[in-house]
Amino acid sequence: MSSKRSSAHIRAQKNGKIRDDYTCQICGSKNDVEGHHIIDCQFSGAAATDNIISLCHHCHNLVHSGKLNLFKF
Ligand SMILES: [Zn+2]
Ligand SMILES: [Zn+2]
Repeated sequence: MSSKRSSAHIRAQKNGKIRDDYTCQICGSKNDVEGHHIIDCQFSGAAATDNIISLCHHCHNLVHSGKLNLFKF
């Protein structure tokens, strides 16, 4: 993994959070908002801002543990 690729990811995460106004797109919380990759990094285009959704730490954990399905929204 090159440093160029990871900086593109950081920029996409930042742009995604700015677009979402640093607000969790599930519960509306503004605490501990993180960028989540909608499509896994192994697929192409993972660094695109469109692939980032802003989630608070709590909802992010639910998504990753499979308790919450993003595609319902
Ligand atoms: Zn949330
Ligand atoms: Zn995630």
